[in-house]
Amino acid sequence: MIAGLTEILEDAKRNRRAAGAFNTVSLESIDAVISAAEQKNVPVIIQHAQLHEPVIPLDVIGPCMTAAAALAAVPVCVHLDHGSDLDYLKHALELGFTSVMYDGSDLGYETNVANTQACVEMARCYGADVEAELGRVLRPDAGSDSENDEKSFYTRPDEARDFVQRTGIDALAAAFGTAHGIYKTQPHLDFERITQICEATGVPLVMHGGSGVSDDGFRAAIAAGVRKINYFTYMSLAGTDAAREYLDANPGQIGYENVSAAVRDGMFRHVLHALDVFSGKTV
Ligand SMILES: [Zn+2]
Repeated sequence: MIAGLTEILEDAKRNRRAAGAFNTVSLESIDAVISAAEQKNVPVIIQHAQLHEPVIPLDVIGPCMTAAAALAAVPVCVHLDHGSDLDYLKHALELGFTSVMYDGSDLGYETNVANTQACVEMARCYGADVEAELGRVLRPDAGSDSENDEKSFYTRPDEARDFVQRTGIDALAAAFGTAHGIYKTQPHLDFERITQICEATGVPLVMHGGSGVSDDGFRAAIAAGVRKINYFTYMSLAGTDAAREYLDANPGQIGYENVSAAVRDGMFRHVLHALDVFSGKTV
């Protein structure tokens, strides 16, 4: 069934776990994520990032996501990830998304506050929740390699308190050492900062750039207060690996639907493991 972000994150808090939030750019990934959540009997978040518009448009994948969520046996939040313009977010809300992320982290602080306030006001008209970002979750190739330089982009607890109070958001994407994409080296997460931001804001925190964090890193971040983990890259790689294995094992002429099923199964197995880790299980 379709669910809101807040109810899923409250459930995660009650059960001392984090909800997995997976970018679903295809029917295979929607099915892999929802089937894995059903098998583990946990709520889940499926999300579409604005930057994936060239991969598949919101107008095509959005209705597939809401339809699959409605049919699911577990609560599924349908979320718009990293929206940078309000018209795009409004369109997601019109399609029935129950949550949107406004990302104004590239902008100056006051502009980020004003745009996030406008997003919250708009989302409330649809009964939807809002995530926003403060600080910068970098791409590994975007910033300096110096750890001190990176830390200047980390979310500051005092600023986070002001940001949450003034915007009324439901969840905060915080920067504390993770990065989007593939890590060159094992990331160093600032768990103390997670705890401080949690105490300062009182809202659930979101970890972006979950792929590549160790299982122990996830567990420590959840213990410190992370309640939503955005995860995409390694799930996608698991799909590719499964396709490669399938083709190696089945030479000759292969119908695409068989490769597609192998990709779906590879992502499904990967998400099962991720959901165990996000549930705090030692696996
Ligand atoms: Zn992100």
